[in-house]
Amino acid sequence: MLPNAAAPAAVSARVGYLGLGSNVGDRGAHLRAAVAALREHGVEVEAISSLYETEPVGEILDQPDFLNAAARIRTELEPEVLLDLCKAIEVEQGRMLGGQRHGPRPLDLDLLLLGDLELETDRLTLPHPQVRSRRFVLEPLLELDPELALPDGSRLAAALEGLGPGQAVERVQPWVCR
Ligand code: ADP
Ligand code: MG
Repeated sequence: MLPNAAAPAAVSARVGYLGLGSNVGDRGAHLRAAVAALREHGVEVEAISSLYETEPVGEILDQPDFLNAAARIRTELEPEVLLDLCKAIEVEQGRMLGGQRHGPRPLDLDLLLLGDLELETDRLTLPHPQVRSRRFVLEPLLELDPELALPDGSRLAAALEGLGPGQAVERVQPWVCR
């Protein structure tokens, strides 16, 4: 008997990590709305780190501090579909398209890791290119899993230990509203 070429390949869910940030308006409300929207769209949000008050890093330093967190998710969505969902949720929370890179924003939702995927397209790089170098990403991620490693095996705890001075990050409160 011939194999059924039309049978869909089994889609298996991947575990991934998202970075959430806000420095405009009611920052905590934007982060909570992001988690609610992910869940509404079928993304399982398994765990969320504490909230961290963090100073801006990158190209624009003269802007308000951010509130950041990281979330562990489980999803069958393919990476670019998940990116589109994150971008749509950012816009829902009032983010203007075409704003300044690294500028103030009510919501930034970044794909940090998705299973063991390593890819680079015009729109999406996985793991996120700055995952090793940003304290505001590393601290919440390591709170969720102190042993977390990139697909190439490098441990994020080692990346955090290797960071130079600067990039103040303060854990301010546990995530409320699970
Ligand atoms: P940043 O998060 O670096 O401050 P943006 O949120 O404005 O900047 O993202 C700029 C672009 O980065 C997005 O439009 C997206 O296409 C691209 N990008 C590449 N890789 C990723 C990723 N892993 N997660 C989120 N965005 C990504
Ligand atoms: Mg972003």
